[in-house]
Parts: sequence; structure tokens; C-alpha cells
Amino acid sequence: MKTTGILLFRNDLRLSDNATLTAACAEVDRLICIYCCEPISASTALHRPQTLSDHRQRFLFESLEALDQGLRGFGQHLLVLKRPIVDTIAELITQYDVTHVYSSVNAGWFENHQWSVLKSRYSSIIFQQEHTHTLFEPHQLPFEIEDLPSSFSKFRRVVEKNLQASPIAGKVTKMPPNPIVAKEYWQVPHYDELSSPLCSGGEKAAKYHLEKYFSSDLPSTYKNTRNGLEGMDYSTKFSPWLSNGSLSAKTIVSKLIEYETHKTANESTYWIYFELLWREYFQWYAHHHGKTLFQFKGLRPTVPNTSFYAERYQKWCQGNTPFAIINAFMKQLVATGYMSNRGRQLVASCFVHELNLDWRYGARFMEQHLIDFDVASNWGNWQYLAGVGADPRGHRQFDLKKQAALHDPKGEFTAKWQGSPITINLDSVDIADWPL
Ligand SMILES: Cc1cc2nc3c(=O)[nH]c(=O)nc-3n(C[C@H](O)[C@H](O)[C@H](O)COP(=O)(O)OP(=O)(O)OC[C@H]3O[C@@H](n4cnc5c(N)ncnc54)[C@H](O)[C@@H]3O)c2cc1C
Repeated sequence: MKTTGILLFRNDLRLSDNATLTAACAEVDRLICIYCCEPISASTALHRPQTLSDHRQRFLFESLEALDQGLRGFGQHLLVLKRPIVDTIAELITQYDVTHVYSSVNAGWFENHQWSVLKSRYSSIIFQQEHTHTLFEPHQLPFEIEDLPSSFSKFRRVVEKNLQASPIAGKVTKMPPNPIVAKEYWQVPHYDELSSPLCSGGEKAAKYHLEKYFSSDLPSTYKNTRNGLEGMDYSTKFSPWLSNGSLSAKTIVSKLIEYETHKTANESTYWIYFELLWREYFQWYAHHHGKTLFQFKGLRPTVPNTSFYAERYQKWCQGNTPFAIINAFMKQLVATGYMSNRGRQLVASCFVHELNLDWRYGARFMEQHLIDFDVASNWGNWQYLAGVGADPRGHRQFDLKKQAALHDPKGEFTAKWQGSPITINLDSVDIADWPL
């Protein structure tokens, strides 16, 4: 009997270093490659946005289009369906006598829940997942995921001395045919109005950027420039491609090692690795803490002393707070789909500590807008800054005035994004009277 597989692409939108794709191509006679843009309903994923910003959608669709083009080079193609994942896979299983379902391991609780539902519903089908989003695999880690170190520093100490990233997955040379005829199932929407997209989606664009970055001298000054606020050069800008898997973390590390071997190895090049370890920590943190990643009290025994104030929240989203630099960051985010790490730290600190808002609404807004949204990095960092996550200090409030003076001393960034505070009063009407 012929075997038929479904490959559910999620945050692994690439052909190279994709162990899931390699396994599927080696094991089945026919292969259906799909991606589901599923509507997220409030009942299934509370505090997750129900719509994505135009920038996020554009970046995603460009990445999917690039993946489809890559697959077509092997006689395959990608079906992009605007339908719920579980229903779609269930229908395909019935229609095409599916024997195998493949997907990459995902750090999100919701995504894992869907996988478990499918697995339990179809016990005679082989469900297989590979690790494509992290540097390491669980069997390499010197602890069980349940015993993940409680802070990043402890994690780093254990990991960086003892471990090497697992090898890059073998190249796919041949793909099984797709039993579903290629049609124009989907079209990349055109977002002509987008003001200034930071970068284009897809594996080709990712590789181009990777090569360009490591053929420049930027890696050897990264540590000194990484707190910049504007432009492509002060930090690596790998995150948009990393987040949807157009680029793998292992590929970046192998390029970094090449750079260190042939060009320069210094504190800055080490610091790129150090930041990738932060990413790695948050991935395993999300795996370990599951649903808790989205809970108000996070890892703490009691809920924070913050709440949801509609007017303050709206002012923060629109860049209309009493803090000029915060307004600039928020306008930058909405206009481009990206914000620097420093910006993210400051707007999150402002959200929680100055505006006393429930951190989950801030995390959700970033999820809606960031082209590099990653469930583990976003929600893990928000928990950290809200003092309910992996920060051993438990409280991290930035002095916004000092930070503005340090990182935007001439006010150029603030002026560019028209950050000047429009509002002095945070609450113009009584909170109870604000229309929701
Ligand atoms: C509130 C908040 C929300 C965030 N949300 C996201 C998110 O949704 N997606 C995302 O990829 N990052 C997120 N980050 C982390 C960080 O801000 C971005 O990874 C970084 O700004 C991306 O730009 P870059 O690639 O130029 O980073 P670089 O400074 O060049 O760092 C290199 C890589 O290291 C990783 N990295 C760096 N800092 C962090 C960090 N603090 N946590 C996890 N990984 C890190 C990223 O993969 C990044 O691409 C968030 C940080 C904060 C404070």
C-alpha cells in the first residue's frame, strides 16, 4: 500500500535545515504540504489577537510564497488554507488515506494542544515531530525540561560549556509528489499602503541578509551597537526570519563560527551567541511552562497589582502617553512591524509600571504587530518584564527619562517618530465611563 503524508508547516517555512521536511520526503510515497492561516477565536486562545497587522500578514505571505516557489522547484507545492488546522487535517486524512502526519515541534501551548487532539483522534496514523526551531534537542540538554533552570544565567552556564548545536539537517534532493493538483488556492495580498517595511519575507531574503551581515564587519561591533533604536545595522535583524523559520538558529550559529574562524572572534561575536541563547532559553521555558506562559500571575503565587484600563491601553497603543520616547517606539512599531530590543523593554516597563496595565494586553498587542513575533520570546519576555517570569530580581522598572537621555540623547529618534507627548492626563474620563 502506498503511504501518504501530510506536512503541516508552521514556524519552519524553509527547505534547508528542516528535519521535518527531510523526514517526510524520505518516508512517504505521496506528500501533501499545507499551511493553515487559521482564525484564532477568543474562546480557544484568550489574550491572543484575533487579527494580525498588515505588516505581519505581509511578511508571512511573502514567506509562504517563497516556500511555495521553493517546493515547486521539486515538483511540489504548498496549499495555504484559511481554515482551522484540526478540521483541515481531519478532512485531508479522510479524503487521501493519510498514513503519516509531520510537523515541527512548537513551543506554543495552543499549538501543542491541537497536535495532541489530532494524535488522540487518529491512533492508527503515525504522527511525527522534529525539532527545527531550537539549537538543541531535549535529549542533548543536561536536564529534563521539567527541571529547566529557573533563570537564564543558570541555563547559560550549563549549556554553553557542554553543548554544541545539533547538526544541520540533510539537504532534500527529491520530494514525493503531491496528490492534490496545484491550483491558485491563495494569493499574496498586496499591501501598497505600507509605509516602510523593514525587510521581505522568505528563505531567499533570509539567506541574502545572513550572507550580507556576516560578510560585513558588523558582527565584530555588535555588543557596542546592539542597543540602537533605528536602522538595519545596530543589531543582526535575524529575528523576523527566525520567528517563522525562514532561517534556522543553527544556520546562524554555523555562520557565526565561520566568521569567528576566518575573520574575528571577540566579545561582540560571542554576544550574538549569548542573545541566541536567550532565545533558546525562552523556547524551553515555553515548553516547560505551557499554559502558564499566558497566565496573569505567571510563575508567581499571586496576581500582580495591575489591571486593564481601556483609555490608558489605547493611549499606549497609539503612542499618546505622557512619555515622548514611548510614543515614538509605539509609532515605529505600528508603522514598520518592528521595534528594537531596547524599545520593547521600555514600552513594556512603561505599560506595567507607569500605566499599571495588565501585561497580557501589551503582549497581545505586540503579537498582533511584530513581524518577528515568536510565542516563546514575546510572552516570555513580557512575563520577565512584568515581574512574573524568569527574572530572579522579580521587578525591573526602567527610568524612562534616563533611558531617553542615554539612548536618544539628541532626541532624533523621538522627533523622527513624532513622539512628543500629546497627552498629559492619562485618564480623561472616569475609568468606569470609558466605552469598551
Ligand atoms: C517585551 C519584549 C517582547 C519581545 N518579543 C519578541 C518576539 O516576539 N520575537 C522575538 O524574536 N524576540 C522578541 N523579543 C526579544 C528581542 O527584542 C528581539 O529578539 C530582538 O529585538 C530582535 O532583533 P534582532 O534580531 O536584531 O536582535 P539581536 O540583538 O541581533 O539578537 C540576535 C538574536 O538573538 C535573539 N534575542 C535577542 N534578544 C532576545 C531576547 N531578549 N529574548 C529572546 N531572544 C532574543 C533573537 O532571536 C535575535 O534575532 C522581545 C523582547 C521584549 C523585551
